[in-house]
Amino acid sequence: MTPDKYIKNYINGALIPASSGDYIDNINPAAGKVYSHLPDSDAEDVQIAVEAAERAFPEWSKMGAQKRFRILNRVADIIEQNLESFAHAESVDSGKPVAMSRSVDIPRAHDNIQFFATAIIHYASEAHHMEGTAFNFTLRQPIGVVGCISPWNLPLYLFTWKIAPALAAGNTVVAKPSEITPMTAYMLSKACSEAGMPPGVLNVVHGLGPKVGQAIVEHPKVKAISFTGGTNTGKKIAAIAAPMFKKLSLELGGKNPNIIFEDCDFDQMIVDTLRSSFSNNGQICLCGSRIYIQRSIYEKFKDEFVKRTQFLKVGDPFSSVTDLGSLVSKAHKEKVMSCLALAEVEGGKILCGGKSLEMKGEIKEGYFLSPAVIEGLPPNCRTNQEEIFGPVVTITPFDTEEEALEMANGTNYGLSATVWTKDVAKANRMAEKLQAGIVWVNCWLLRDLRTPFGGMKSSGVGREGGLEALRFFTEAKNVCQKY
Ligand code: NDP
Repeated sequence: MTPDKYIKNYINGALIPASSGDYIDNINPAAGKVYSHLPDSDAEDVQIAVEAAERAFPEWSKMGAQKRFRILNRVADIIEQNLESFAHAESVDSGKPVAMSRSVDIPRAHDNIQFFATAIIHYASEAHHMEGTAFNFTLRQPIGVVGCISPWNLPLYLFTWKIAPALAAGNTVVAKPSEITPMTAYMLSKACSEAGMPPGVLNVVHGLGPKVGQAIVEHPKVKAISFTGGTNTGKKIAAIAAPMFKKLSLELGGKNPNIIFEDCDFDQMIVDTLRSSFSNNGQICLCGSRIYIQRSIYEKFKDEFVKRTQFLKVGDPFSSVTDLGSLVSKAHKEKVMSCLALAEVEGGKILCGGKSLEMKGEIKEGYFLSPAVIEGLPPNCRTNQEEIFGPVVTITPFDTEEEALEMANGTNYGLSATVWTKDVAKANRMAEKLQAGIVWVNCWLLRDLRTPFGGMKSSGVGREGGLEALRFFTEAKNVCQKY
């Protein structure tokens, strides 16, 4: 399976251009060059896709979970068989190291589809018996046509995290991947055709968020929206979808705290903290960007962490020695650099990194930045409050558990938090009080797909993962039968 120069929409089972015939440039961020083009679709394309999805719904929703399982499982198999070409395409599109695409993004996309394909054949509705009087059973029926909109940071991984449960539950889907990283969603369209997915079951419409994404959200026949992206975009989507009474799942931004106590396993913590800070250049919603360290080990942590950060190799995503590739786009690199400038204005000291890097050869025009560690900032400054979503962390000492908790909870976000301690009671106290949808203790990014996933406060509404996703993509209907 090879990527094409001209990406197509996937509507009603056919690969077609946008109805306008226009294309948008797709950039390889490590090279800083246009390498392919994607359809510049609009509301007309969304309309055709919604009509196709509506036509496909009766057959898909009624064919039975076993048949849907077989088709989705074939899609998962095709991804697995083409792992190398999917991984290559993901890295060209996003600038992330191919080792990461190969070991994280694409295997997880495969797992998402396989997980929900399998889950639906084990999914059962509930029954509640009112002794001697009646019994209730709760039907969980697919909603109809649903919209799935995903971001650029984990392109196929997050795209499949939405469409797999939607399709498994019997819905038909109109989906939009990020315009910045469209290639693997296009390759997935081809995999769906090859797997024998009936036309119109999955429709992928490429293009710009405010044009295509918004048209999906506004369409009256799209009954539910599952969105992952920035908090401001989430607000706009909610403002449109809420008055239309659409079901809404919003997975939004984060400003995740990483709390390190003096009694932690230092060696394990330092390895995982480097990962949780800079994996994918910090462009993972779950990265820990505010690191709080107990004062007694602050200097030791700082020395070791800065040393290891400086040792990270930034460069060609296709080199086996690369730890960090390029940032995803020129605009995003500029945004991260403006955040670094702000941190200095706010009184922060950049201990290492934060420099634009000049590369040689094919990647000399790429968007590279050295990972930055900043200290000396108060908890309430903008750098410690606003999402940067780049290779930038702040480090701050704390004295007591209460102080760490107050700083950790002191933002509008509440996606994830990490706690490092060997004291189980302390870990449990922290986990109970942290305002975050996901708390990791002595680990990071360890995921069981059956568990709920999502954020509190401005990090989102609703939960994905396991049964939560199947509940979101189904309508519960209780039937009460008297004896
Ligand atoms: P955006 O919010 O800019 O975009 C997300 C998706 O929404 C893209 O497909 C985008 O299209 C589309 N979009 C943009 N505007 C609209 C609109 N008005 N109506 C409908 N759709 C629209 O986020 P990014 O792509 O920049 O992703 C980074 C953000 O995602 C970060 O804030 C990060 O924290 C968050 N995120 C959250 C996760 C979570 O699970 N909570 C996981 C991963 C990321 P286009 O690309 O064309 O603009």
